[in-house]
Amino acid sequence: MENNQSKGLMRLVLLPLPFQGHINPMLQLASILYSKGFSITIIHTAFNSPNPLNYPHFTFCSIQDGITHSSSLDILNLIILLNVRCVTPFRDMLAKVISDARDHKEHVACLITDALFYFTQGVSNTLELRRIVLRTSGVSSFVPFLLFPLLIEKGYVPLQDSQLEEVVTEIPPLKVKDLPLIATNEPEKFYKTLSNLVEGTKASCGVIWNTFEDLESSPLSYLCQEFQIPFFPIGPFHKYPSSSSSSSSSSSSSSSSSSLLAEDQSCISWLDKHKPNSVIYVSFGSLAAITAIQFLEIARGLASSMQPFLWVVREGMVVDENKECLEYPPWPSGFIENVEGRGCIVKWAPQQQVLAHKAVGAFWTHCGWNSTMESICEGVPMICMPFFTDQKVNARYVSCVWKIGVQFEGEVKRGEVVNMIRVLIDGNNNKKGLEIRERALDLKEKARVSWNHGGSSYTHLDALVNYILSFQPKRTVL
Ligand code: UDP
Repeated sequence: MENNQSKGLMRLVLLPLPFQGHINPMLQLASILYSKGFSITIIHTAFNSPNPLNYPHFTFCSIQDGITHSSSLDILNLIILLNVRCVTPFRDMLAKVISDARDHKEHVACLITDALFYFTQGVSNTLELRRIVLRTSGVSSFVPFLLFPLLIEKGYVPLQDSQLEEVVTEIPPLKVKDLPLIATNEPEKFYKTLSNLVEGTKASCGVIWNTFEDLESSPLSYLCQEFQIPFFPIGPFHKYPSSSSSSSSSSSSSSSSSSLLAEDQSCISWLDKHKPNSVIYVSFGSLAAITAIQFLEIARGLASSMQPFLWVVREGMVVDENKECLEYPPWPSGFIENVEGRGCIVKWAPQQQVLAHKAVGAFWTHCGWNSTMESICEGVPMICMPFFTDQKVNARYVSCVWKIGVQFEGEVKRGEVVNMIRVLIDGNNNKKGLEIRERALDLKEKARVSWNHGGSSYTHLDALVNYILSFQPKRTVL
């Protein structure tokens, strides 16, 4: 660990968006920057608060967001509400952190916030503190966000059923159905939120991306031209030796101590009993909800595949036709008995450890950006079933650009599940599966090179550290 005196006097304030897929990379980034010698303060909402006990070397400050009915709000309205409710408590807390630091002869160098906390640009202007944003998704999915006004003008958005399979000629190979939209009755609110995200990012002093150059070089070059601010693609964050907390156990990758749900470790000893590349790991992240019909098709597909599987069935993951969470998953009759020994079902898994396990041969995923990166870093081929926003773009890149997985093109059907599992898990016996696995291993190696000494992410991280070090305190002229 580099922890020199001058950086030790420099404090960074980080503000994660309170969702699992945003908290994980922000805390990983905090650990990376701590290892570079900066002191760290995490300001976080009371809603979905991370556990400070897992990071005793950071200072945690909780702000009241007044979110009490989160479950009744959809993700879009929750993000909008957080951007309204947090303004005053965040500004007051940040002012206090700056003043306390001054009292301790420390200098708060800058604020690092999730790009979706766009309200923070106004606060940082008021307090004259530089603001860097962390974008926790990929660069490829940011390009359509930037182009949204054009996509609307050209008639791609709102979506028309007759156009879904057409390629968006401005951003191939994305098809109209891959555009990063969300199901909402209030599309104007969604467009406005995207515009706030893009404008808030452009107004920042720089963008940190959890990606690496070899993975997203074209969209990175494109966005670099469009934005007049420095970019720091320093991912994959979770692979830096420093990115795990002091209390987390570590295998070939760090386990996630920023988990909001308890990780069921029993699945690791279950995996230990299986042959290399034989198990399909199924997880749709922390937010995606599936209908009872989809649930049944998935369950029946897994049962018919005759392959071992580890399935994360989160509480409340299955919803009825009114989008109300079902209290219990609607297991097909006889399912649990039929798959006994072959199937392991948990409510939440230690995902990074699972993907690093040699028994795992494929990952059936919703293609959230963290899951996608975690799978790439272990060379695990993917079965993509995206639900909303950037997941759709990520899935298209997995299946058609990096060609390290296959994708459901329509509704999930049990027969197709069986075929896809056969292609990937039985990869040694078919050309397509073999090629996918080879490319996945090749990309894994590129990821490894990027964060190792001299790699592109390693070099960008040095540049980020030097950039922050250049934020010296302003001299007061008497
Ligand atoms: N995750 C986990 N255990 C699980 C499922 C997911 O630890 O059973 C972690 C996963 O490793 C990833 C995060 O939760 O870091 C999910 O982020 P992602 O961007 O993939 O999806 P989101 O939850 O934001 O849709």
